[in-house]
Amino acid sequence: MLGRAVSMAAAMKKTKPKLESLPYLRRVRAAVGRRAQEAVAVAEAIAELAEPAMREFESSDCLAGFLAAAGFRVTRPWKDLPTAFRATAGRGRPAIGILAEYDALPDCGPRPGEWGHGCGHNLLGAASALAGIAAAELLRRLGEAGRIIVFGCPAEEALAGKVFMAARRAFSGLDAVLAWHPDGATRADIAGGAAMDSVLFRFRGRTAHAAGGPEQGRSALDGAMLTDVAVNYLREHTAENTRMHSVITDGGRAPNVVPDSAEIWYYVRGKDRKQVDELRGRVRLCARAGALATDTRLRMTVQTSNTERIPNRTLGDMLDAILHRCGPPSFTPRDVRAAAGLLPGKKYAATVDPIRTEQGRGSSDEDNVSWFAPLGRISVACVPKDTIGHHRQYAAAIRLPGAHRGMLKAAEVLAAAAVELALNRPLLKKAQAEFHKQRRGKKYDLPMPANARPPVYARPAGATSEIRNPKSEG
Ligand SMILES: [Zn+2]
Repeated sequence: MLGRAVSMAAAMKKTKPKLESLPYLRRVRAAVGRRAQEAVAVAEAIAELAEPAMREFESSDCLAGFLAAAGFRVTRPWKDLPTAFRATAGRGRPAIGILAEYDALPDCGPRPGEWGHGCGHNLLGAASALAGIAAAELLRRLGEAGRIIVFGCPAEEALAGKVFMAARRAFSGLDAVLAWHPDGATRADIAGGAAMDSVLFRFRGRTAHAAGGPEQGRSALDGAMLTDVAVNYLREHTAENTRMHSVITDGGRAPNVVPDSAEIWYYVRGKDRKQVDELRGRVRLCARAGALATDTRLRMTVQTSNTERIPNRTLGDMLDAILHRCGPPSFTPRDVRAAAGLLPGKKYAATVDPIRTEQGRGSSDEDNVSWFAPLGRISVACVPKDTIGHHRQYAAAIRLPGAHRGMLKAAEVLAAAAVELALNRPLLKKAQAEFHKQRRGKKYDLPMPANARPPVYARPAGATSEIRNPKSEG
């Protein structure tokens, strides 16, 4: 019995990473604290801007400005993505990436029809930038090698920015990459989200007078609607974890004109690429049936495509250990009162939860990044538990002082993790060995055309392209 207990203890000890960064935690915290106010100002500015995917011009200006003022070398725009950037500090290896996002969501603003940060990406971008700044500063002061690269990633809500960035080799050559997301709980996440395809089905028919000569028309809208009917029957015969949801983005403009053009937009989700590839094929058959029945023409376009996560237990354990060492965000009575005023009955999480190993049903383009380097990811409590995501309630909660406290905690943990990866070569090697083992035999193969162009927009006329320094704006 004793022997068994000893060997179990040894096994447990083996999974608990030895952290080299712990002696520097105080300095990490101080580096985060020095620029905390600036980071909060950036987060608030981005919350006010609430810019849609691929149109985050001023939000990316804010983050790029924050990083440039701290000595980062900023490339912006990055390649053909006008709202993406890459900001680097330090020298040599390892090269540690940190992912920043900053796009908003429709119908999540304070008033109906307005955009808002219903997913907290304003906090996400600001804390990732702050983590990069703090980690780079500490490595420089310690005289240690290592590059910190903050990636400005547009259009996460469209599940697309990092897909196009990955296709342009943004994440190739990294030694490890770190990410986080605001949440109602604090924990390390290993499993990631569902694999997914975003697919447009465009129908073309023939217009006619809907009452006077309907026999001359071929309704594209009918094609789209029959597709949806067929998919609703399909649901019964797919695995329970799968998801298929749609909106009609074009369905004609008047009932008395037979629509000659219609479009239905699907998200098809499953546990991995294989399952999604199969399911997308079956949804396509439904669309073909709709086109056949209505004598319309069909075109399918895969807009964007997410993979499942390549999990990395080593980085998950490291982040879990750092989270426990740093502790969850400590919300003050004032924070709690402010949250209770906005969301009665809802409370902030006060603990660090166990590592999440169950795959989520939603998707993120951050999982695509996990195919190019070992990915470590945390969630940090920034809103009370059970705050509804992708909702104006969430967009209001991310403006509270508690949200800023959560964001600064995320920056502290990510900065400590980046320093750890730079100082602790055996741990980094272990994470990389795990990555190569998990990745072996798997092909990063998306169903999008190889030359797919990102849906970009021009910078609005009159908007400055100056890098903004939030400090000077007060
Ligand atoms: Zn999000």
